[in-house]
Amino acid sequence: MIEIRGLRKSFGTHEVLRNINFTVDPSGVVALIGPSGSGKSTLLRCINLLVRPDDGAIRVGDAQFTFDHAARPPKARALAAFRARTGMVFQNFNLFGHMSVLENVMEAPIQVRKLPKGAARDLAMTQLAKVGLADRADQMPQTLSGGQKQRVAIARALAMEPEVMLFDEATSALDPELVGEVLATMRALAQAGMTMVIVTHEIAFAREVADRVVFMRDGVVVEDGPARQVIDNPTQEATRSFLSHFH
Ligand code: ATP
Ligand code: MG
Repeated sequence: MIEIRGLRKSFGTHEVLRNINFTVDPSGVVALIGPSGSGKSTLLRCINLLVRPDDGAIRVGDAQFTFDHAARPPKARALAAFRARTGMVFQNFNLFGHMSVLENVMEAPIQVRKLPKGAARDLAMTQLAKVGLADRADQMPQTLSGGQKQRVAIARALAMEPEVMLFDEATSALDPELVGEVLATMRALAQAGMTMVIVTHEIAFAREVADRVVFMRDGVVVEDGPARQVIDNPTQEATRSFLSHFH
C-alpha cells in the first residue's frame, strides 16, 4: 500500500505539489490523470524519492518517511532502502544500451540487492518470462521494438521485487501499434495483485484496469474516486473539461 499525507514540493517559488493526500490499498491500482504541468510526474518521483518532498509523509508498505523542510534531510542510505520498495517505469525506457536484455534485468539485483550472479540470472529470466521476452534475453536493446524495450524496462523494475510499481506515461513514446502489448503487460501485473500507480493518457485503459482515478490540476487533487465514476460521471467541472479532450 501507499499512503501520502500533506505532501508539498516547490521548485524555487513555484509550488508544484500543494498538500497532496491519497492512499493506494494493497493490490490497488490508481490511475493518475491531469493536464500537462499539473504535477503528476513530480508526485511519482516523490513516491520513490527521486525528488525529495519539502513536507509531508509517504508510506510504502510498512516503511514511512516524514519530510520537514526545516529539518535535516534524511540520510542517503535510508533513502536508497526506501526507494528499493518501488519500481518505476519511464516514458523513454532508459535501458542500458551497452548491456544485453538479460544483463539489463540482472544489473540492479547484483549491484543493489547484492545477489550472486546465478540467482540474479534466474530472477531476471523469471521476470523476462513474465513480460513474454525470455527468448530475447541475449539480444541488445537496440535490436528490439519500442514495445519490447518497455517490457524489458518493466521486467527490470520487477527484478527488484518492489512492493509497488509506478508507471509514468509508459506508452506515450510508443508507436500506436505497440501500445497494446505494453498495456497488456501492465494489465497482467495488476491482475496478479501488484499495487500500482499509473500516470496515463490512455483513458479507456484507466477506466478498465484502475480501481480508482485521481485527477490532478495545478498541484492539487481535484477529484479522487472509483475509476468508472470519475471517468463516466465526474463531479468536478475541471475533470469534465479535461476528459472532454479525449472524446
Ligand atoms: P506532463 O503531463 O507534461 O508530464 P506533469 O503533470 O507530469 O506534466 P510535472 O512534470 O510534475 O507535470 O511538472 C509540474 C511542474 O513542475 C511544471 O510546471 C514543471 O515545469 C515543474 N518542474 C518539474 N520538475 C522540475 C524541476 N526539476 N525543476 C523545476 N521545475 C520543475
Ligand atoms: Mg509528466
